[in-house]
Amino acid sequence: MSVNIRNNNQCRIINFPQRQRIAINGFCRVTKYRLCRVCRKPDWCGYTTDEQTSICMRISNGSKGTSRNGGNIFHHNCLFLVANPRTNRKQTPPPIEIAPIKIRNAVYEELIRKSPAVKYYSQLIDGPGGLLSRGLREQEIQNYGALPRTRKERASLARTLNKFV
Ligand SMILES: [Zn+2]
Repeated sequence: MSVNIRNNNQCRIINFPQRQRIAINGFCRVTKYRLCRVCRKPDWCGYTTDEQTSICMRISNGSKGTSRNGGNIFHHNCLFLVANPRTNRKQTPPPIEIAPIKIRNAVYEELIRKSPAVKYYSQLIDGPGGLLSRGLREQEIQNYGALPRTRKERASLARTLNKFV
């Protein structure tokens, strides 16, 4: 990553007092008084004067694209929809009733049978941070299940367990 190119805009305004809100073409730099709304850091990132858009230089996940200076564009009416308590209340699904303990136990046992941790031996059992490295004994390993890596496989496992129930 070339920091020089990405920092071009910042170099132009670096001599301004940090406390002052500096707007260039409708954009402001974040400060320690006005953190980036995406990464919560006080430098490098920017935002529009109307506060509707942030240009985050650090986080790209969930951005709407890349700005000319290589920043990641976030439109807050989209980004913070979930965080808005009013819309959040509307979107919260009704609470799911928890199944009785016997059913839950049966489902977990079936899950372990259908998708045992030993299926992923190198990753989950004897790999770094695996069950053996945490001090579990070999015969205890069979008490552990694992969720498959891909969404498709997990969905398939969930369907199987639903049928089982
Ligand atoms: Zn940021």
